[in-house]
Amino acid sequence: MNYQFSNNVPASDEDPVGNILKVAGDPKVISFAGGLPAPELFPVEALKQATNDVFDESGRQALQYSIAAGDPKLREQIAQRMNRSGIKCDIDNIIITTGSQQSIDLTAKIFVNPGDTVIVEQPTYLCALDVFRSYGAHIVGVPMDDDGMQMDALEQAVQANPNTKFIYTIPSFQNPTGRTMPADRRQKMIEIAEKYNVMILEDDPYGAIRFAGDDVAPVKTFEHDERVIYMSTFSKILAPGLRIGWIVAEKTLVKKFILMKQTVDVHSDNLTQHIIAKYMAENDIDAHIAKIKAVYRKREGIMMAAIEKYFPKDAHYSHPEGGLFIWVEVPGVDTQTLFNTCIEHDVAFVPGEPFYADQVIPGTFRLNYSNMQEDQIVTGIERLGNAIKETIAQ
Ligand code: PMP
Repeated sequence: MNYQFSNNVPASDEDPVGNILKVAGDPKVISFAGGLPAPELFPVEALKQATNDVFDESGRQALQYSIAAGDPKLREQIAQRMNRSGIKCDIDNIIITTGSQQSIDLTAKIFVNPGDTVIVEQPTYLCALDVFRSYGAHIVGVPMDDDGMQMDALEQAVQANPNTKFIYTIPSFQNPTGRTMPADRRQKMIEIAEKYNVMILEDDPYGAIRFAGDDVAPVKTFEHDERVIYMSTFSKILAPGLRIGWIVAEKTLVKKFILMKQTVDVHSDNLTQHIIAKYMAENDIDAHIAKIKAVYRKREGIMMAAIEKYFPKDAHYSHPEGGLFIWVEVPGVDTQTLFNTCIEHDVAFVPGEPFYADQVIPGTFRLNYSNMQEDQIVTGIERLGNAIKETIAQ
């Protein structure tokens, strides 16, 4: 059949990152490639109890169709957490989504016509790039330094692209770099967005996983006129398989999100929403998050010490204070060659290229520390260090 696809569908069936994850999924490979949380930390027993309670107490309601905005009890708990983080909102500012991936997709659906500009950090979350591409966005990457997106370059990009719809930012423990934007930059980003009348899409799946340093308030807390669409998720603080996230936005905008979400999936899984609401009512999710932070702090520290020991001295790397990732730059290394050598050594990472909208910085790659045990981290980084030296020597 000669399919006549829509413009939303990529021309190529190639899935380079999928292929990498497949190779890295071999059990003998120590994989720093994925972005998976540590499964041993999933609160299985507490979620099982919450599930039983939901079936016992409100099974019929949880199994029925519901409203696209999401379960009011869950939205109430999220609103309380958001207010504690400085984002002033009530439940009418919140819509539950099927994970942040859907939040990104719905935002693009609502705002992006083909040819509209979306400004992103360079590098950024590659599945967000895929979403923006599928809506025909003109994607403009803004360079970063250790403190995230550079504001002078952002202002130039907004000036040069008057059709900019929004700036997509992951301000805390960014995927893929692990970098965090300090408060003064967040403030400046708001000033630029207000001056040029563009919106901000703040994607914050990792902000709650800070294991070092001081909290920085979300970009949304600096706004004056509700132009920031904030999104987060239970994927990293509970479990990604639950597929539940949320958006906080101006109330009139939430209505648009609701209309668009209805066309996509009617509403997010109602049973899962009830389970999470019950879990949060019966358990201290912050105590659970504290356990995650303690484990990730340790793993990050071990990975960092191993990097310092085994990587060449001219390697640069980020020093995340939270989240799941370290970003490495080894000048002069072709990361695809390095990846192939690494697979021979049974270790894997994700090469940097797909995270760039354009202007790739060569020799960059992402390491994940949340999903491997401590001894595997040391062994894996030693193998990776050896593979880098081999690749450079070639
Ligand atoms: N945004 C970023 C920056 C991410 O890293 C991820 C997941 N890795 C997502 C969104 C998607 O998260 P979810 O599981 O909530 O769809």
